[in-house]
Parts: sequence; structure tokens; C-alpha cells
Amino acid sequence: MPYEAEPIDETDPVCGMEADADQAHDVGLETEYSGRRYVFCSEPCLEAFNADPARYAQLEERSAI
Ligand SMILES: [Zn+2]
Repeated sequence: MPYEAEPIDETDPVCGMEADADQAHDVGLETEYSGRRYVFCSEPCLEAFNADPARYAQLEERSAI
């Protein structure tokens, strides 16, 4: 499936909150893991993800269906 380039709300994989992808980009609250972009509501969530990305990436994929 093609990935849409439009800015959309994405789910913070750490806390489950919705994060504005555009705003997250502006303030640097985003990261890429395994070819996918993840956005975060706050710096602690970004740091938690970076500390153990595999754990959160898996959680996120399971709940995104
Ligand atoms: Zn969060």
C-alpha cells in the first residue's frame, strides 16, 4: 500500500496518545525505526522509544490494525 504523504495524526507508540506529525517534526519529536516513522507527544516518550525501539515498535504495530 502506498504511504500517504499528507500530514496526519499518528499515535505515539510509547504512551498511546495521538501526536500531530507536523508539529512533532517541527520540534524534533520524531524518529525512524525499521523504515517507519514514529512521532511522539513529548521528549520522555522519544527517549523511551530510543532506549528500546523494538519493544515499542512491536506494540505499535499490533494496536494499529
Ligand atoms: Zn507520549
